[in-house]
Amino acid sequence: MGDYILVLDEGTTSTRAMLFAPDGSLRASAQRELTQHYPKGGWVEHDAAEIWDKTLACACDVTEEVGGASQIAAIGITNQRETVVAWDRETLEPLSRAIVWQDRRTAEFCAGLRDAGHEKEVQVRTGLLLDPYFSGTKMRWLLDNDEAVRNAADSGRLAFGTIESWLVAKLSGDTHISDASNASRTLLMELGGAQFDEGLCELFGVPHGALPSVVDNAGELAIAKKEWLGAEIPITGLAGDQQSATIGQACLNPGETKATYGTGAFVLTNMGDAIPASKNRLLGTVLYQLGGERAYALEGSVFVAGSLVQWLCDSLGILETASETEDLARSVPDTGGVMIVPALSGLGAPHWDAEARGAIIGLSFASGKAQIARAALEAMAHQTHDLARGFAADGAPWQSLRIDGGMSANDWMAQDIANMLNLPIERPALVETTALGAAMLAATGAGLYPSLEEAASAMRGELSRFDADMDDSIRQERLAQWAKALEAT
Ligand code: ADP
Repeated sequence: MGDYILVLDEGTTSTRAMLFAPDGSLRASAQRELTQHYPKGGWVEHDAAEIWDKTLACACDVTEEVGGASQIAAIGITNQRETVVAWDRETLEPLSRAIVWQDRRTAEFCAGLRDAGHEKEVQVRTGLLLDPYFSGTKMRWLLDNDEAVRNAADSGRLAFGTIESWLVAKLSGDTHISDASNASRTLLMELGGAQFDEGLCELFGVPHGALPSVVDNAGELAIAKKEWLGAEIPITGLAGDQQSATIGQACLNPGETKATYGTGAFVLTNMGDAIPASKNRLLGTVLYQLGGERAYALEGSVFVAGSLVQWLCDSLGILETASETEDLARSVPDTGGVMIVPALSGLGAPHWDAEARGAIIGLSFASGKAQIARAALEAMAHQTHDLARGFAADGAPWQSLRIDGGMSANDWMAQDIANMLNLPIERPALVETTALGAAMLAATGAGLYPSLEEAASAMRGELSRFDADMDDSIRQERLAQWAKALEAT
């Protein structure tokens, strides 16, 4: 048997399959775009059958490329979190469209629960907020509004799950599980509870019996049937995408932190075995569970990161490509007083102001696209600095930051983040840290490495480092300008 790890990385806009060697190098990769369905304002749906078909097709492509299933030791899965699939336990056919994490249709239901005074209790028990983002209220919506889902519930055939659960059910044909990192995004599991919680299920109106069993993130979790790839292959690693990226960045000790800069930005700090209790509206989540023992993380997100640069390209048309921002930022000594607050869709943690809107302030006749591009990149450091304050106030100060995601390729931005945080920044050569984390888990689960720590140190590639190099007076002046700009929104 070969020792490749097959990772299925099921994202929001596309699904991919990647083959990693045990040293962490990437040997093959295939990708297919997914159809986004927007049936109404605020609604976002996926076709779960399409997700399965395209994920399997990608897996077949890369398996063929290396000479067949005999080359593969194990499968790892990482996925868009919170998205809900409902299927028939017996036929394994989807009963409805999947409701995607971005979907806001349960906003009113969440507001009702908040008005009834449930938020505090829910936050303490689950680490989450009463927001449509999380899975529980989406399940309830399906039961209330979809006849096929309701009928399946009545006849005991309903299975609910997040995407890793759905893919494991299809691959194995008989296993209904969810890993603890994904389960911790549903509102239905207590951070310290081993399984989904009967009381929380009752609060959200979700039948406990329709939910999967909660399992470790690595181990002999299920077996993919021979009919899919030509041989039975054990599924030995599962994790939600942000937790997987945190593992892929080897943030395995308390305090270690990663930030992913893509469309938005996601920051997670390893909290060890301490259950996080945020006073700054950060989220508490399971980072991973091994042998029944959990490591937790504190999580904060920024809604607008790379999408600000995309907006400068697509809507304002002042840039052709996102990467131009780097040379433009270097071409001027400063922004000449221009500041951008990228609250184009509200402000995320630690502000949590959905109604806030963006601002560009400090414009003069000397302001050109270089100043605006530089201000856009500077906004990333400022938003990250706001998060750093929130994390520190919650008892999780950062000692360094490990960055990844498409936008992290920008060296000027990486240096500016180091300067503003006054911390060293590390960036791996391979920014596919999400898939790499699932590969590390699967390699551990398959016994290729005796521990996750050993898998991480063997599989993590080369790093670039950016050290702070800024006068504190300049830093303080920028922070003061940012505070003023925030007030203006
Ligand atoms: P996602 O996974 O959320 O789709 P990616 O990680 O692929 O996003 O990152 C893409 C985003 O990063 C885009 O919004 C793009 O504008 C931005 N981006 C990509 N490269 C650069 C760059 N060199 N400088 C600035 N922004 C960039």
